[in-house]
Amino acid sequence: MTDTLMVGVSGVRGIVGKDLTDEVVTRYARAFGLWAGERTPLVVVGRDARASGPAFEQAVIAGLGSVGCDVVRVGLAPTPTIQLAVEHHGAGGGIAVTASHNPIEWNALKFIGPDGIFLDGPEGARVQALAVEGGPGRSRAVKIATDDGAVERHLHAVLELSAVDVERIRRRKFAVALDAVRGAGGPVMRALLERLGCTVTGINLETDGQFPRAPEPVPENLGELSTLVRRTGADVGIAVDPDVDRLAIVDETGAAIGEDYTLAFAVRAVLGGRREAGGGKPSVVCNLSTSLVVEDAAREFGAALVRTPVGEVHVARAILRLAAVIGGEGNGGVMYPDLHAGRDAPVAAALVLELLARTGKRVSELVAAAPRYTIVKAKAPRGPALEPVYAALRRRFADAQADVQDGLRLAWRDRWLHVRPSNTEPIIRLIAEAPSGALARELVDEGRRLCAAS
Ligand code: MG
Repeated sequence: MTDTLMVGVSGVRGIVGKDLTDEVVTRYARAFGLWAGERTPLVVVGRDARASGPAFEQAVIAGLGSVGCDVVRVGLAPTPTIQLAVEHHGAGGGIAVTASHNPIEWNALKFIGPDGIFLDGPEGARVQALAVEGGPGRSRAVKIATDDGAVERHLHAVLELSAVDVERIRRRKFAVALDAVRGAGGPVMRALLERLGCTVTGINLETDGQFPRAPEPVPENLGELSTLVRRTGADVGIAVDPDVDRLAIVDETGAAIGEDYTLAFAVRAVLGGRREAGGGKPSVVCNLSTSLVVEDAAREFGAALVRTPVGEVHVARAILRLAAVIGGEGNGGVMYPDLHAGRDAPVAAALVLELLARTGKRVSELVAAAPRYTIVKAKAPRGPALEPVYAALRRRFADAQADVQDGLRLAWRDRWLHVRPSNTEPIIRLIAEAPSGALARELVDEGRRLCAAS
């Protein structure tokens, strides 16, 4: 195993040809097939637009076939489409060949359970163990089917959501600028937006995986989209990541507003619609490092905000456990369980347009109507024990609300400091959010000082 092959409970990721080879892909697909086949020997396989995708897809199918798993191929598709297809086919699981927002040199396998949610904990550990042990082959004639309808079903399901008033959105005839970074999202997102009555001007809608810029939809990567919004006078700019589970917004002036706002807008869209319809006190779920703009959106509608440890699966599981109305991550990942508890950019786009249509406000006005915050991140060297650091922080900030689910998060009404060990490096990560950069910096600096002194 090479040092950049990253094996985790929800999959395996590496640099193509260096550590992620056909042999490695087949071995992990075989292990996944053994695990899935314990219940249902049928696995859904799909991929994003990366150039290495088709060959890895074949290697996955070979691995699954060697342990007697039937395969349904959905081909080039968003990750949320593949997750939905797993549920649709009643499969034992799914494999998405995608490295999401990682640079072009990378690819990965992501393992999806029969409920359409990524593997975690013991299930993922079991697949890892099977990849090492091998396990028995199964000689059985396997069937390989192609599902050409997965994307269409996904789009149809989004347009059928009760939270999305398609006619109201269509009447607004939004002009939308779209940037899909030449990942899997170009045709899907264009089709969705056009069905919502939008006039779409796109860049990077080709699905050849030749990312023309860093693929993560963060403001520093969206300069070309900002220019397109200004040039075309669009109402909104929309960027998706290569596997179409994250979405970021550019406002009508061309300003990238930050990916935290995607979930905040989606929360407002869903909770605002519920208020019109009536109903009890709803829950909203996000992780401990998600921006206060999401908390403010939930609070505005009297919803309970529940925070989980960082990690998509933690959020998804909490959404289902609490029967939350919506949840997601501050990175532009919206999870709307009326469809499924997975990050889904088509759902996010529909909900953002729903909010714009219902309120009649421009994107910049929606941003200006709520408090603004700044997030500051830093690192500190990690000593032998973290408990003394946490104890010192709790003494220093005795007036804060403490959450110990994932490191230590200290929170006040309008600011917070989250201190947790890195999973990949011998460091402590500090992240703070406050009404100004100076206040957030103060929190982080005090945290670092206490890390060094403890
Ligand atoms: Mg992604």
